Amino acid sequence: MVKSTKWIDISVPLKDGMVHWPGDPEIKIHNIKDMRKGDRATVAHLSMGSHTGTHMDAPAHFILNTKTIDQMPLDSTVGLARVIEIKDPESIKIEELKKHKIKKGDRILFKTKNSALCWNTNDFVKDFVYISDDAGHWLGEIGVKCVGVDYLSVGSFRKGGHEIHKALLSKNVWIIEGLNLSKVKPGKYDLACLPLRIMNGDGSPARAILRKA
Ligand SMILES: [Zn+2]
Repeated sequence: MVKSTKWIDISVPLKDGMVHWPGDPEIKIHNIKDMRKGDRATVAHLSMGSHTGTHMDAPAHFILNTKTIDQMPLDSTVGLARVIEIKDPESIKIEELKKHKIKKGDRILFKTKNSALCWNTNDFVKDFVYISDDAGHWLGEIGVKCVGVDYLSVGSFRKGGHEIHKALLSKNVWIIEGLNLSKVKPGKYDLACLPLRIMNGDGSPARAILRKA
């Protein structure tokens, strides 16, 4: 059988003025040279926080003297992955995860109601589905390679995301945030997601794509 080559883009478009985490820098994209204005080439100036749109968190985002984004093992986010659909409308909890036989070394992307709801508006959505602290510790103990979520943080906006980030990052679970999984059904996929190689970076925007495995 010929292997399917249809890749699905699960990253969100980076746009001037797009939604961002409250308190993080605004996203600014504008041309400083523009052929439509007579310049010989078009060149944009980009200005944004390291956690903009679809992006990755390195352990150094929350823990001093740990791995930075340029030190990420490439196979953390390139290889077989599972998209798991979460029914809970509030948070991702251990009880629901236990049904999915998650193993050490898995790459796991969580599809929640966020994918359908949160990206339809440019307003920041405060009540997005997040990973509970307990589930974060549980995933860290299992030792998954990476965890992806479909809005701008693994942690709750209202309760704060400090503990959940540390639970994952202290176990070298690399975090992908800001995915849009609305076009993807639960199942097994080939994942390719790579952050920019920002020296000593705490995180970076990333492009993420999936192909049915
Ligand atoms: Zn982040």
